[in-house]
Amino acid sequence: MSNFIPVTRSSMPSFEEYIEEIRGLWDSRWLTNNGGKHQQLKAGLARYLDVEGLELFVNGHISIELALQALSLRGEVITTPFTFASTTQAIVRSGLTPVFCDIDPVTYTMDTSKLERLITDRTCAILPVHVYGNVCAVEKIAEIAANHGLKVLYDAAHAFGVRYRGRGIGRFGDLSCFSFHATKVFHTIEGGAACFRDEALGVRLARLKDFGINGPEAVDEIGANGKMNEFCAAMGLCNLRHIGEEIEKRRRVAERFRTRLEGVAGIQLNPIQPEVETNYAYFPAVFDPETFGADRDQVSAALEAQGVKPRKYFYPLTSAFSCYGGRFDPAETPAALRISRQVLTLPLYADLPLETADRICEIILSCREGRK
Ligand SMILES: *Cc1c(COP(=O)(O)O)cnc(C)c1O
Repeated sequence: MSNFIPVTRSSMPSFEEYIEEIRGLWDSRWLTNNGGKHQQLKAGLARYLDVEGLELFVNGHISIELALQALSLRGEVITTPFTFASTTQAIVRSGLTPVFCDIDPVTYTMDTSKLERLITDRTCAILPVHVYGNVCAVEKIAEIAANHGLKVLYDAAHAFGVRYRGRGIGRFGDLSCFSFHATKVFHTIEGGAACFRDEALGVRLARLKDFGINGPEAVDEIGANGKMNEFCAAMGLCNLRHIGEEIEKRRRVAERFRTRLEGVAGIQLNPIQPEVETNYAYFPAVFDPETFGADRDQVSAALEAQGVKPRKYFYPLTSAFSCYGGRFDPAETPAALRISRQVLTLPLYADLPLETADRICEIILSCREGRK
């Protein structure tokens, strides 16, 4: 197993740094419910993410569910199927109906040229995803939402630390939800945050993540338990100290992949978006079997045979999940369907050696030799 290369590997602070961070908890015995670490992390993240308001959660998924609830939505939510299970499940579990918009085949985010025709009198919100940290067409989405009186909630789980036109990505839309899961660029083991401008939304979110409790004898809303505990917040405080280095190390690996794979016929790489400061969260490669000479599954198998574990991320589309029992038709989003069949995300984490990145590229390029 020593040669096995996983698709991701969590960054961790030194053992000593984490122990130092949690030491005080043995004195305070304050382990959850808005403790000192929680408050410190909340302030540090609001600064780093460059947002006005922020609430922490026990995971990213519950932040999306409670954000949907805080917006008091009913009816249809326009979203994309090229995402993680969480986005669509949050909509359905909230009693809302997802309506799938196709994606732009270059940025993999919502194709706004196909968005307006999906709006009906039942539409209440738009839930786009900043896939792989690529920034959605935020201005166009804001314009369409304003014209139709719709709320906008961004799934920003992939976009930690991303900046657009010098501003934190969490500033766009009514709310933006981040995930701090162990596999993400920044993590708190499990965790998440919702960012917002409207203070009243923040008050509502804080209440909803604590069972809707509004004082010792008042429970005003049907909430959930979405609170982040002190051990997770402590991990976040440690990781936040090293976030600059984390992103820089990822950049070096991603640049290495790009140098080796850029311009190869039949491979499409993540776009370099103008005015975007990215976070190198993922390195997707899209294989056009005709031009490249091998399809995604062949490339994936070749890598796995050499102990490298890439991921078909996102495949299948969420609209094709068996849990939805054929309610949705993946063929209605043809670009998303094609990309999901052709994409492979390569292993990418801060400590991935550059020689390993080279080896991965060699295996990928060698797949062309079998072409007929
Ligand atoms: C990780 C992720 C989530 C869910 O976050 P958790 O913290 O794992 O609950 C939601 N959406 C996307 C796109 C994700 O990648």
